[in-house]
Amino acid sequence: MRRYVLIGGGVASMAALEAIRHADPGGEVLLIGDEAYGYYSRPGLAYYLTGELPEDFLFPMKNQEFHNLNARRLRAKAVRIHPDRHTVQLQDGRLVPYDRLLMAVGAEAQMSKVPGIELDGVIKLDSLDDARNILQKARRGRRAVVVGGGITALEIVEGLVARRVHTQYFLRGDRYWTNVLDETEAHIVEERLREEGVKIHYRTELEAILGTGGRVTGVRTKDGRTIPCDLVGIAIGIRPRLGLAQTAGLQVERGVTVSETMQTSARDVFAAGDIAQVYDPHTGKSTLDSLWGPAREQGYAAGLNMAGITRAYYKPVAFNVTRLANLTTTIIGTVGRGEDSDVTGIVRGDSETWRQLPDAIAAQSGFDINRLRLLVGKDTLLGAIVMGDQTLSRPLQHLITQGADITPIRQQLLRPGAALVDLLADFWTAWKDKVAVPA
Ligand SMILES: Cc1cc2nc3c(=O)[nH]c(=O)nc-3n(C[C@H](O)[C@H](O)[C@H](O)COP(=O)(O)OP(=O)(O)OC[C@H]3O[C@@H](n4cnc5c(N)ncnc54)[C@H](O)[C@@H]3O)c2cc1C
Repeated sequence: MRRYVLIGGGVASMAALEAIRHADPGGEVLLIGDEAYGYYSRPGLAYYLTGELPEDFLFPMKNQEFHNLNARRLRAKAVRIHPDRHTVQLQDGRLVPYDRLLMAVGAEAQMSKVPGIELDGVIKLDSLDDARNILQKARRGRRAVVVGGGITALEIVEGLVARRVHTQYFLRGDRYWTNVLDETEAHIVEERLREEGVKIHYRTELEAILGTGGRVTGVRTKDGRTIPCDLVGIAIGIRPRLGLAQTAGLQVERGVTVSETMQTSARDVFAAGDIAQVYDPHTGKSTLDSLWGPAREQGYAAGLNMAGITRAYYKPVAFNVTRLANLTTTIIGTVGRGEDSDVTGIVRGDSETWRQLPDAIAAQSGFDINRLRLLVGKDTLLGAIVMGDQTLSRPLQHLITQGADITPIRQQLLRPGAALVDLLADFWTAWKDKVAVPA
């Protein structure tokens, strides 16, 4: 009987467990995770903060469903992997043997190094504990400053606003999420934040967090202003937890490098989810994501390959349906390029793929909340952002990820003032019948 050990306990591990059970019903599976709550939805934390989702709803799997998967769960921290001896060492000294190992330990928020970062009242949003902490602190804190970028910064801002905390948001540059959104999209988001009562400070950088008696009392900016507040939200990026892989001698770059079968450089060791930097044979690049859907798919592919029944390939698809300032937004494929000075590396709900834009022409329509931007390549669509009306979100996901040949409508798409939505809707109807896309 084969022994599978999965370190993590998040979505990538759970998907691997499902795949292993599918391919090897008799194998012995042990899931090692260090969080008290087990498996829960991290994207759901934003909705929990705003009060739209009760805590119970964060847990996607009932105890009975887990029980049916016939696996053991151990609450423990793995501190060392010995690929040569095929063992995992736990913090309490126990050694766990494996035949196949999955590393899916995720990523963690990077904290700023500014003076005062240790004060009570500094918050981040990485885990259920963090979300509970924010809710508890928002009860007594009335004023907050948030720094950082991407989805998490806005989630903290909106969670605080929903809890009636007066919130100010610092951006280092002239606009929000510069390497993913274009100016119009950023403007839409910023305008909506202002409507919610958020004060945005552009070209503003945190110099220090101020406090008395160990508690936050305000912040000082690099241009010498002091702004009083009780809470400081930090969302400047995340970093994959690479310690275990590094001490085990695995090949590591920005994440643990894996092939398209999720295999690491060590025999019988696989990695998936936020920790994995996945090779894409089509682009020759290997990229990091922090996306729920891809983490799930990577975990599933890893599980099948660990069971060795079929050879499963993961095809990178950077896709996220999210909410930016209360506006549903879908991001697919490559949509931007360059750096964003508000964050280091990637943030939650983010992908390196989104900013690897090769030469492409943008076609756009809608300058209000219903906006569509397409990145048009030579004969395929390379990426898209769909804001507001989501009718085209799923069609575009298929057209982009399956590399549909858009030559028949390319010139029309690029015509100034083109009716993009109608053109795409008609094209999609014809295309999906031809390639038989599942409903
Ligand atoms: C606030 C927030 C908002 C997000 N928003 C979005 C979104 O809008 N869209 C989207 O697609 N994605 C979003 N994400 C990202 C998404 O949740 C992640 O990509 C996904 O959870 C990654 O799954 P994973 O299994 O790789 O890691 P995780 O879910 O992070 O699970 C890893 C687990 O491993 C545990 N662990 C770490 N080290 C050890 C160890 N040594 N021993 C044992 N256990 C260990 C950790 O404690 C953790 O429980 C968001 C995430 C957060 C936190």
